[in-house]
Amino acid sequence: MPSTPSSKDRLCRNCGIEIFAHKAKKGLCGQCYPISLRIEQVAKWNVQDPKSLRGFPRAYPRENQDFIERIKSGVIQELRDRLNDLRRWGNPTERELDGTSFECLFNELAMRCKTRSHRPFFGYANIFDHNFNRDQKRMLYSLLSKMLRDIRWHGVNWDQVFLHGRSKA
Ligand SMILES: [Zn+2]
Repeated sequence: MPSTPSSKDRLCRNCGIEIFAHKAKKGLCGQCYPISLRIEQVAKWNVQDPKSLRGFPRAYPRENQDFIERIKSGVIQELRDRLNDLRRWGNPTERELDGTSFECLFNELAMRCKTRSHRPFFGYANIFDHNFNRDQKRMLYSLLSKMLRDIRWHGVNWDQVFLHGRSKA
């Protein structure tokens, strides 16, 4: 259940969800902080300093800084995409409370549930606008985004990163 405002006194500076002050790390919530930390670590990957290459795939060659830079940029992109997702599923702005954004959220949830039809909520924007007032939408948004945030994230997609690295070669 949502807590009372007095029990939470800080908003995550990425996704805007409320967090307990003592749990905030660099102003981020427990989901955004590790990703932001990982971005900082990956940004330091350097062929000259083998210790910096923590998390660089063992199967990939690590002698060539150009190659490392390409992999690095792919990994950072993946991590930033995740931070963007968490931001979208965080505290909604007014703009995010219109029917179109609910249509997108429901389609996204359907996609993640692997429904048979592609975008089954296409064209539903008016249904959300006509059946839910602003407060109801805010509550609906917070429940939906809680579910989206809770779906297990499988981390960096290395196939994607490798393709990204090759396409920039
Ligand atoms: Zn956050």
